[in-house]
Amino acid sequence: MYYKDKNLISFMNAKQDIEKLVIIGSGPAAYSAAIYAARANLNPIVFEGFMSGPIGGQLMTTTEVENYPGFPGSILGPKLMDNMKEQAKKFGSNCLTEDAIEVDFSKKPYVVQGTNSKFLTHSVIIATGANAKRLNIQGANEGEFWQKGVTACAICDGAAPIFRDKDLYVIGGGDSAVEEAVFLTKYGEKVYIVHRRDELRASKIMANRALNHPKVEILWNSEIIQVLGKNVVEEVLIKNNKTNKTEKKEAAGVFFAIGHSPNTTFLNNQIELYPNGYIKVEKGTTKTSKEGVFAAGDVQDYTYRQAITAAGSGCMSALEVEKYLVEKGYI
Ligand code: NAP
Repeated sequence: MYYKDKNLISFMNAKQDIEKLVIIGSGPAAYSAAIYAARANLNPIVFEGFMSGPIGGQLMTTTEVENYPGFPGSILGPKLMDNMKEQAKKFGSNCLTEDAIEVDFSKKPYVVQGTNSKFLTHSVIIATGANAKRLNIQGANEGEFWQKGVTACAICDGAAPIFRDKDLYVIGGGDSAVEEAVFLTKYGEKVYIVHRRDELRASKIMANRALNHPKVEILWNSEIIQVLGKNVVEEVLIKNNKTNKTEKKEAAGVFFAIGHSPNTTFLNNQIELYPNGYIKVEKGTTKTSKEGVFAAGDVQDYTYRQAITAAGSGCMSALEVEKYLVEKGYI
């Protein structure tokens, strides 16, 4: 049941139904959890978001997805997410176009407060994902060369024809930057890592992969300050922040690899997080530090961060919710 009353106290005192499951998010993890939960008759409520980012998550801002199994001819990111949503709704998921803005996990049943509605629930799956951090570089934003050579995921986009045998630039100095740069050597003529300092943050083993790779060059103490081109990226303007010298170089791709931010602020520290903000889950499960609260997808995964791994953990979370509800006698 769906409530419009925004006053938490009066809501808590009113007599109301308790949902079996509320899912927060709308990426591959959330919809996979919804498909499994709906097919198990858990009637999940899905807070898909609204102001917090595009419904469908990070794949909504990408083009061809070539590495999601089942689509040998590739599929557009937004189409893949539409399909997942349709599949979740087909089995009875109740998808709400609103953000979950607050949760109360201090006592059972738990409360999930949205922008318009509130629910009491026996269980929650948090699948709010993470956003790749980007820099406000002239030419790299939406409406400029974003997704026209500028992206934040080399693994997703690197095989696109526009990058073939061209010079590519990865911004960052961590494990992701190195991993993505080495990955891009399969496609690009040369891959430059543009790092703001004179030392990589990446682990030694990863750093050595970049330092010893014949197709990778590191531009130390450097920043891309402008991305230029006609229809797609053609050049980058690079500044050395020690000498202040600038240089224009040919380029077909610019890849941000400066980390991700998990979407966990609305949880208000009611479950345990890692120092980097990602949700802690019990190893090999999606169980969080709070009984009956599960986490799936990128919000609990800072290593793999792929649509397929997110979908897999979404499936796990729904199966674990079902087991939990049975064990507790809720269903
Ligand atoms: P990260 O370790 O936080 O590194 C981010 C990099 O981006 C840093 O080098 C940082 O520079 C740079 N950066 C941040 N803000 C910037 C800005 N405003 N301008 C320019 N540069 C900026 O993030 P990550 O590389 O995504 O790694 C995240 C976690 O995943 C790490 O724990 C990592 O070990 C793990 N990971 C592991 C693997 C693997 O083992 N195969 C692969 C990928 C990721 P500074 O160094 O100057 O701060």
